[in-house]
Amino acid sequence: MDQLKNKVALVTGAGSGIGKCVAELYAANGAAVVLSDIDEKGGNAVADGIRSKGGKAIFVKSDTSSPADCEQLVSKTLAEFKQLDIACNNAGIGGAAAPTGEYKLEDWQKVININLNGVFYGMRYQLPVMEKAGSGVIVNMASILGAVGFAGSCAYVAAKHGVVGLTQAAAVEYSAKGIRVNAVGPGFIETPLLTKHLSQQEMQALVGLHPIGRLGKPEEVAELVLWLSSPQSSFVTGSYYPIDGAYLAR
Ligand code: NAD
Repeated sequence: MDQLKNKVALVTGAGSGIGKCVAELYAANGAAVVLSDIDEKGGNAVADGIRSKGGKAIFVKSDTSSPADCEQLVSKTLAEFKQLDIACNNAGIGGAAAPTGEYKLEDWQKVININLNGVFYGMRYQLPVMEKAGSGVIVNMASILGAVGFAGSCAYVAAKHGVVGLTQAAAVEYSAKGIRVNAVGPGFIETPLLTKHLSQQEMQALVGLHPIGRLGKPEEVAELVLWLSSPQSSFVTGSYYPIDGAYLAR
């Protein structure tokens, strides 16, 4: 449980769901963790929980759709811990549901700003620090909807396909500089992103799309993120890893 000893890891959207589990697992594996979120209460609660178990963690309020916030998040990480070894660009929203021909422009902008631009802004300020250090690992949170379409979710689908593309572009540019960049593609996962917005009946319909017969758990996604962040995946870069109970295989 000390695969990330002496590492400093940053996690966006760490106040809930997958990001929370990633931050906790990073800390349990010895990393000092910088948690960021727009939800101050949620983010602070997760950071407090990590510290109460003897882990190192700070919370920084930061909006991934703001380039200034993303730059400041990296500078605060360096001010506190002097280095940045791992970044999990995870923050995201589900967005409004409507067919593409009726999708409201402001809804499109909001999803693209957070789910796609947010990942670019994150990497834009993380990569130069890692390049200077000559090493680093980035894990971007895509989705199965980074590989296929889904009715009613054009902005989300486009943003997640974009995250996969950004991941590949950065991996081609930075792998020879000691920086690995990968994307994770979860199927539908039981987190507030779903449970807050969907009825039991809608959740059941999603279960039916996963041949494994259930939705995923955020802890299961965190295990994949940990592996991609650790030296055990040292030859893995530029890849997109579905974790989806055979959703895409179907
Ligand atoms: P969640 O709602 O539980 O957590 C998302 C967190 O991101 C929240 O704490 C929220 O406050 C934060 N956030 C939202 N907008 C932000 C912003 N602008 N800046 C900073 N933080 C912000 O959701 P989750 O399911 O844990 O989702 C995490 C990631 O996983 C997202 O990118 C999502 O698209 C992706 N994902 C989720 C599922 C799923 O079914 N739950 C499936 C595939 C991919």
